[in-house]
Amino acid sequence: MPTTKWSKSSWRSFPAMQQPVWPAGPAMDDSLKTLSQLPPLVFAGECQTLKAQLAEAVDGNAFVLQCGDCAEDFSRCTGPDIRELLKVILQMSVVVAYAGEKRVIKIGRMAGQYAKPRSSDTEMVNGVELPSYRGDMVNSPEATLEARTPDPRRMLEGYYRAAATLNLVRSFTLGGYAALDRVQAWHRASLDALPAGQKYEDLVRQIWKTINFMTAIGLDPQHTPQLNQVTLYTSHEALLLDYEEALTRMDSTTGGWYDCSGHMLWIGDRTRQLDGAHIEFLRGVKNPLGMKIGPNYDIDNIKAIVDRLNPDNEAGRLTLITRFGADKVANYLPKLLREMSRGGYRVVWSCDPMHGNTYQNEFGQKSRKFEDILREIKTFWEIHKAEGTVAGGVHLELTGDHVTECTGGSRQLLDKHLHLNYQTNCDPRLNAEQSVELAFELAEMLHP
Ligand code: PEP
Ligand code: MN
Repeated sequence: MPTTKWSKSSWRSFPAMQQPVWPAGPAMDDSLKTLSQLPPLVFAGECQTLKAQLAEAVDGNAFVLQCGDCAEDFSRCTGPDIRELLKVILQMSVVVAYAGEKRVIKIGRMAGQYAKPRSSDTEMVNGVELPSYRGDMVNSPEATLEARTPDPRRMLEGYYRAAATLNLVRSFTLGGYAALDRVQAWHRASLDALPAGQKYEDLVRQIWKTINFMTAIGLDPQHTPQLNQVTLYTSHEALLLDYEEALTRMDSTTGGWYDCSGHMLWIGDRTRQLDGAHIEFLRGVKNPLGMKIGPNYDIDNIKAIVDRLNPDNEAGRLTLITRFGADKVANYLPKLLREMSRGGYRVVWSCDPMHGNTYQNEFGQKSRKFEDILREIKTFWEIHKAEGTVAGGVHLELTGDHVTECTGGSRQLLDKHLHLNYQTNCDPRLNAEQSVELAFELAEMLHP
């Protein structure tokens, strides 16, 4: 165990990977000072509630649906963009809850997912070497040196956009838009011609029948909070430690420290060094945490990190998000599950079927195949069943837009179609149709 005493700035004595090289000058200190004085975005009690819900997913009594953009885009912090993403999350969760008969814990990769780890500090764009794009909270994707130079004021801008996003999410989810009797309103006409659209129509009819039945026996759906409100938690990769530190506050009721930039934070596969700054920072905050695990893991190292992040083995504190790829999951997952079960670790197991399945197509676009995504999830499920462990959820990159970034799905998108609406600044996302289709597959796995 580390001998240092944790504080919200103790990470500064440890090596921090994937941090931008911020320019010298007062902008950094000024931004961090302002951030540290601004109100928290979420409050400790919400993080504790999420942790308690995640504890139920450890035992298979709830299902974690964590999803959203790879990298949120400042310019897409608009009412329609947020509403379309929320709609697809609501659709997916109603499919999993109704057809899969499982309570769904909804966690957006949103309201703060503005910083990205990159495989290289620089990249060649049109023959010119430029600093890599590291997310809108750091720099801008345009191919100029000026745009790519990190600007600390972007952290403040990220805070304000996260606050605006969260405000609309809270209005929609608490103010009636997410009420179950609006299940039809989350639907989109473009799905109608697809099998998933027809399945969704059937589901809407069944839900209406249930609501009508409840009314007939004297229950009052209009005044039943479980039917009128949903909770959508926020999450992002806790990558920019300066930002995360500035949003870390002591909870006045328990004395615990919470990173109030989002409800759940995760550590990427590239920043989870046992003696690195990210692990040091996150071990001290009491939020529920996620950790990505890719094929390069070392089992003793994973155990040591898990011990450090969750020394009391508290169920709900830690979600291990595996991202091996459809071809590799059968080689890498069983050993991990066996060793962690033997150690008695109480974690949620979630499948990220995106990051191990990325390829570059002949047109230079990054893409993923719907069939690989589905195959990794199915294999993940089968392995958990065989090992007697619990498949607790999924971690997806998707959007409510009609983008063409991943191939496959019932529209049978091919690489040659991706140029039609390829929008992402970072990784390719499932579009709304592919996402709903995937939700029906998940429901089938949960309730065959
Ligand atoms: C991501 O979730 O966008 C990401 C970068 O994942 P990973 O850390 O698994 O590579
Ligand atoms: Mn990504």
